[in-house]
Amino acid sequence: MKDSLSIPASLSELGLHHMGTHLDMDSFVQSKEGIIEILELEEERYHQMLRKGIAAVNTALKEVPKEASQMDDEILFRLSEERGLNPEMVISIASELGWANLSVRVGFTADMAARNAMMTKAASKEKAGTDIFIVDGLERTKLDFYEDTTATEFSALVIDCFPLTDEMMSRITFSSEVISVPTHVVVTDRTLFYPEGGGQLGDQGVLVQGDIISNVLDTKSQQGIVLHFTDAPLDIAPVKGQLDHERRKQLMDHHTAVHIVGGAARVVLGPHVWQAGSNKGARYARLDITHHSRLSREEIEIIEDRANQILESNYKITKEVLERAEADKKYGFDIYQGGPPKHEVIRVISIGDFDVQACGGTHHDQTSKIGELRIIKSSQVQDGVERLQIVAGETSRENSRRQERILSEASDILGVQSEDLPKAVSRFFEEWKSQQKKIESLESEIVRLRTSGGGTDSVELDGVRYVVMEVEGDMKQMMTMLSQLTRDPKRPTLAILGTKAGGGKIIVASTEGSIAADRHNAVEILNAISGHIDGGGGGRPTMAQGGGTNGEGIPNALKEAKTLLGL
Ligand SMILES: [Zn+2]
Repeated sequence: MKDSLSIPASLSELGLHHMGTHLDMDSFVQSKEGIIEILELEEERYHQMLRKGIAAVNTALKEVPKEASQMDDEILFRLSEERGLNPEMVISIASELGWANLSVRVGFTADMAARNAMMTKAASKEKAGTDIFIVDGLERTKLDFYEDTTATEFSALVIDCFPLTDEMMSRITFSSEVISVPTHVVVTDRTLFYPEGGGQLGDQGVLVQGDIISNVLDTKSQQGIVLHFTDAPLDIAPVKGQLDHERRKQLMDHHTAVHIVGGAARVVLGPHVWQAGSNKGARYARLDITHHSRLSREEIEIIEDRANQILESNYKITKEVLERAEADKKYGFDIYQGGPPKHEVIRVISIGDFDVQACGGTHHDQTSKIGELRIIKSSQVQDGVERLQIVAGETSRENSRRQERILSEASDILGVQSEDLPKAVSRFFEEWKSQQKKIESLESEIVRLRTSGGGTDSVELDGVRYVVMEVEGDMKQMMTMLSQLTRDPKRPTLAILGTKAGGGKIIVASTEGSIAADRHNAVEILNAISGHIDGGGGGRPTMAQGGGTNGEGIPNALKEAKTLLGL
């Protein structure tokens, strides 16, 4: 639009002017600098997309005649989905490229909207799935894990127990932390086991009835009914439950850390940071955040420092149960970072004022319970979404220990102190590179020596040098020798090299554009002699190669080549 209005100013200049003259920036969550940065990036990326778009449109319209006025809908759909080019942009680029009469057909935009809506619907349907278990008539399970997150034992009543069928198993996905295969589902009237949800994996532990110990391998829920996946059946009778609390503590460390890192990222990067997804296992947690650029190591460290300050300051983590409408009114839309609320009554978790979110997971009561956290990795999930891998509490300490072990092993191998590792490694690498170069130059020297001399391998005949030779080495070395032999146009050469290695390989080549190439056809020579190694091959008249299954036939093949050439 800026182009059609012939406005020379950049988008950020326009934005700055608008903010200066028309807006009261105090009422904005995002800072002026933040907005300008985003506008600059957006404009730059728009131009980048246009540049790439030119090539994409050119390719897509290859088959469309220049005078055409319509094009196949499919082309427009594809350019929109794969390249982010809307139909108007395509038409404008196409017109610059010479398709002057093209236009978007009437009704196309509506069709595209309908198609997009259908795809979104199909995707969400796939995700939602259907219920796997029949739990009609069962009371919703009483969830005791919210009241006291440190509780590890409970008494309950088994109200249902059924075996897992193959059909059920084929429809359930268990996380990689579920180490053996469950055989039964146990439903109790109440539980301390947290069922997988909100990115937090399900709890593990045991359910005990007298002498029978049934391991709980995973916990999930369906329609408010908690399903314990066990390795043994239980009676419909009272039961004692015991949670693997060490694992749960780790899950809570990770879960609470994800909230804290999210809050710290918003403080450091700006209010546009939004949680795009999260996952909390016992080994590590990951948090996907929206941000317009890739994160530098320095930015990650600032976020990590800020998050650790929040831990040290020992903020209270408050948990409120609120009606949805009430929560909306009190905290606004920002609390739904984990996705739209699924229930009318929601739990709101607040960590100071760094992070306030609707969340059904289990969290510590105070930030200092975690001890320490580290962001050990960042990667890009898609444009504008950065994935942070987080370890907290015990996994954070374990991660440091592992890093130290790697460092000390590596420095032992090189016989240096670990602080000297980078210097030592770069010295070794430089030496290795220079030795590699030396080896290559020695190799080509050997090739030169072997191929330059007279001897029986090399014969001059009517202005052409013929080299017919059995060599040792692989295809790559043979190719190096060959290019040495045939590269000098002032020395017309026909070379035939053979090796017994790998079932026998033969290469035939001549100096391009020389009388050697005029006189001989490499493919014909190869075909005439490759029978000796029970093989075949092909190529062009100046360069042919082949392989076989009988390496021992190489001497005879080369002998026949000499006969054929009259040497
Ligand atoms: Zn949470």
